[in-house]
Amino acid sequence: MTNEQSKKQKKQGGGAPASGVNKSKTPQIIPPDAHSISLDSVNESAVQVAAKLASAGFEAYLVGGCVRDLLLGTQPKDFDLATDARPEEIKQVFRSCRLIGRRFRLAHVRFGREIIEVATFRAGLDDDMESEADEDDRRVSAAGQVMRDNVYGSKEDDVVRRDFRVNALYYDPVNQTVIDYVNGMDDLRNGVLRTIGDPMERFREDPVRMLRAVRFSAKLGFKIDAKAQAATGELASLLHHVPPARMYDEVLKLFHGGHALETFNHLREHGLFRYLFPFTEQCLDGLVPNLPSLALRNTDRRIKEGKPVIPAFLFASMLWDPVRTDAEKLIDHGQTAARAWETATSDAIRDQAQHVAIPRRLAIVIKDIWGLQSKLEQRPPRMIARLMQHERFRAAYDFLMLRAEVEEVERKLAEWWTEIQEADAERQQRMISTLAPRSQKNRRRRRRKNPAEKNHANRMSKIPV
Ligand code: ATP
Ligand code: MG
Repeated sequence: MTNEQSKKQKKQGGGAPASGVNKSKTPQIIPPDAHSISLDSVNESAVQVAAKLASAGFEAYLVGGCVRDLLLGTQPKDFDLATDARPEEIKQVFRSCRLIGRRFRLAHVRFGREIIEVATFRAGLDDDMESEADEDDRRVSAAGQVMRDNVYGSKEDDVVRRDFRVNALYYDPVNQTVIDYVNGMDDLRNGVLRTIGDPMERFREDPVRMLRAVRFSAKLGFKIDAKAQAATGELASLLHHVPPARMYDEVLKLFHGGHALETFNHLREHGLFRYLFPFTEQCLDGLVPNLPSLALRNTDRRIKEGKPVIPAFLFASMLWDPVRTDAEKLIDHGQTAARAWETATSDAIRDQAQHVAIPRRLAIVIKDIWGLQSKLEQRPPRMIARLMQHERFRAAYDFLMLRAEVEEVERKLAEWWTEIQEADAERQQRMISTLAPRSQKNRRRRRRKNPAEKNHANRMSKIPV
């Protein structure tokens, strides 16, 4: 067959399947009375954007997580649209549109106070590109990883590029139908996560999908199917090749989505956590309770209560045990405590950033949270007021509470800090006046269950702020 013939055959739907996935041409169309999405529960702006695209002669559907969540009766995080309009055409329909992204080019349409993300249908991975210029539109690494992909296709192409069957349902807000090419509805009913096509191939294309599987399984309470689990077992190490900046975005989605503790446990069970936080993984063995899981439990609680959460706290909690272990080693080798802590904190952040990026502004906050610990422990009377004014006091206090929970510092100390924050000025003064200057009494601390920490308590009092 000539190249031309093969090209033609593929355009007609024949030829090699994209990503080893068979493109199904006959979707199941589920009418409004046979599914549970009511138009009222769909974001009004997203409906308007889809309607405007439709009236300009394009197809436009809600797709992905929002359709999945609406069908499950939960509130979607965001409403994404997919269309056959090219980014430039979307821009012509909406004046308030911005094109973003390099890896995947997307349109952000501002509608009222909201921004609706509109993506053009993508072509199958082994679909031919139409011109030489397109070479620049798709880049696949030697390991088969898709680094950039801006080659456009039809709805049928788009569906098989999505990760899981439950994430590949389309909702047409004009006809109010759900369009299912991949039996995603069955998986939703059965509570199972299955990749579209062979999981080995799909995880090779994008190893982050292994993390996404775990995230969705924790969030939705779904099972990851056996083939995808087996593929994860074999391919987990491919996460090494994912750029740290992308891993950072993914880490925030994993741990700031309201199901952090469960996600953490699943990640460890599936052998994936070590590719995110390898130094933390090394410290976790036999440590019960461990500080990261207590921190994540608190994060989930805060999100439920609508309170803010900060990435620095997450990283500070994850890296605390590695940084302490390191500082202790340096001290054992004769460094002063101040020097050892300084080196250990910088090294921990630098080494971790090889795996998951740590933006500079974040590193500063992480170091503040760690550095304030010794001051909170020492309680120098003349510094109390200033400490309480410190921009990071609240985060450092929350961190101290976690350390008290794992019995690394005395509970009474943590309670003292709780009390002084709640006290009026007069009582605060009284509390401070009862502290001995440069108190020695906090130097005796309870030992944690982990024997590696036996000398830690004394050293902690020397961490520089
Ligand atoms: P969430 O509730 O976290 O927003 P989501 O499924 O909407 O979940 P997004 O990251 O918002 O996840 O992605 C939107 C949709 O884009 C997904 O449902 C999926 O169809 C597709 N998608 C996202 N990331 C990938 C990926 N790495 N590989 C394949 N498809 C993806
Ligand atoms: Mg989404």
